[in-house]
Amino acid sequence: MINNDTINEIRNKTDIVSVISNYVPLTKRGKNYFGVCPFHDDHSPSMSVSPEKQIYTCFSCGATGNVFTFVSEYEHISFIEAVKLLGDKLGYNLSVNSKVENKSEDYKIYDIASKYYQNNLHSSLGKKAIEYLENRQINRDTIKKFGIGLSLNKGNLTELLLNKGIKLDKLIDLGLSNSMSNDLFVNRIMFPLYDLSGNVVAFSGRIYNIKDSSKYINSKETSIFKKGNLLYNYHNAKEHLKKNEYVIIMEGFMDVIRASTVGINNCVATMGTAFTKEQALIVKKMTDNVILCFDGDKAGEDATISAIKVLENIGLSPKIIRLEEDLDPDEYILSKGKEAFYAQIEKAINVIEFKLNLYKKDKNFNNIEDISIYIDEMIKELVKVDDEILIELTLKKFSKEYNISYETLLNKYNTIKKNVVIPKNNSIIKTEKKFNVYEKAERNLLYYMIKSEEVLLKVENNISFFPTMEIRFLSNEIICYYHKYGHFDIADFISYISDKKELLKVLYEIINMNLKEGYTNLEIDDYISVIVKYFKKNKIDKLKDDLKKEKDPLKQAEILSEIMLVKGVKQ
Ligand SMILES: [Zn+2]
Repeated sequence: MINNDTINEIRNKTDIVSVISNYVPLTKRGKNYFGVCPFHDDHSPSMSVSPEKQIYTCFSCGATGNVFTFVSEYEHISFIEAVKLLGDKLGYNLSVNSKVENKSEDYKIYDIASKYYQNNLHSSLGKKAIEYLENRQINRDTIKKFGIGLSLNKGNLTELLLNKGIKLDKLIDLGLSNSMSNDLFVNRIMFPLYDLSGNVVAFSGRIYNIKDSSKYINSKETSIFKKGNLLYNYHNAKEHLKKNEYVIIMEGFMDVIRASTVGINNCVATMGTAFTKEQALIVKKMTDNVILCFDGDKAGEDATISAIKVLENIGLSPKIIRLEEDLDPDEYILSKGKEAFYAQIEKAINVIEFKLNLYKKDKNFNNIEDISIYIDEMIKELVKVDDEILIELTLKKFSKEYNISYETLLNKYNTIKKNVVIPKNNSIIKTEKKFNVYEKAERNLLYYMIKSEEVLLKVENNISFFPTMEIRFLSNEIICYYHKYGHFDIADFISYISDKKELLKVLYEIINMNLKEGYTNLEIDDYISVIVKYFKKNKIDKLKDDLKKEKDPLKQAEILSEIMLVKGVKQ
């Protein structure tokens, strides 16, 4: 457990501007710094970083926080891990709390397993496996680079780990052993799968010397292995990628390993799942230039179509490689060679061209009706494009290919375009919550409470509690924090409630309200009186309800006078 004082100390010694500018270029404008927000799709600088308050806010998507939440969100690590990461840079040697410690124990176990498998491969027992790999043109450098190893007989790894004091239950949870204390991977070439930071979190084991119905077996999903959140080879590819270079997305880890054997290191793989939005966002952090190179078969084509959708939804327009003869990139490079694959990269096509080819597939171009349907389909795709030159070139190409005048095609394009509402991918439409007058007053008060001690104390003295639950909890935390530290610091307060996700969300909404800097006492008193009125009204409504139900005239009179009392009417 890292205590709050240490967390605040690290935060105070760390400058948010210099940390964030390691991830995102920032430019100074006025007293704040601005950059392109990495948490939503954007091209203009909507994120501002305040050196004074040591927080960042994005006025487009609402992302807000202090230096730790930024690193945690960006690196996909927990808040405490982010504290540790920044603390380590300052020379703190922090032990992290139990939850994280468990996680790092999981990593350690996988690390031991991976090293154990690697040792096996290089021992005398690994000769056949090495031969097998070398036959498949995986040389020793590649073996080392990707940590390829070998599992042996039942129980060897399990025994090793049990002897290190690790419980069998843990090994079962992590997908390494079964309840009979046997290894789950036996006599297989072991390919470690890595998380985004390069930790081994799973394995894929391939048969090499026996006949088995399953060519590969893979680790099950565990607390540290979530397929849809990972991209194979991300940690390596990221290092190789210079700004504006492209990343190639493939389907299998073998494709990535194979590509690296011919000097192409900027590849990642989806590891046998449909390409997810999480993966797309990870890619987007690397570069905007994406090439999809999935398997050449029909399944690969379908996967390409759905990956295009996912990428387009976050504003990326990929290029596409379709390999012939149903080959996957691994097979393609093996059979056609390095130069042929480089040529494929050179002639990667854009989405429109890909769709042109796709729609052509089931059409008979001797049939006028088919041609007409095809042109219709293509123009519908074309209206989604906002590159005028590409539109013109494509229409001209149609015109030439199908002998239809350019004007006719352009008219058709304009007609379809008029009738199509194009969803904007690039801007996130903030759903403005509707608040009633009490809720607005609550939020306005909280906004100024975190800016001014004076308002904070006034609220504490005048409002026993806020009507809305999350506002009530948040205001209690703010007041508690203030009395504990004798002052209020927004960046440290974010750390203080970092484990209360719901409250953080409300806090970020409040920070992002961007009301005017200054306030008058009259305004604050007004907000307070709105809330006091709310309680009065609530009380009166409740009493009126009671009054309706009450039959006894004497008791009715009692309730009535209580209503008067609450209303403040003298009797
Ligand atoms: Zn944003």
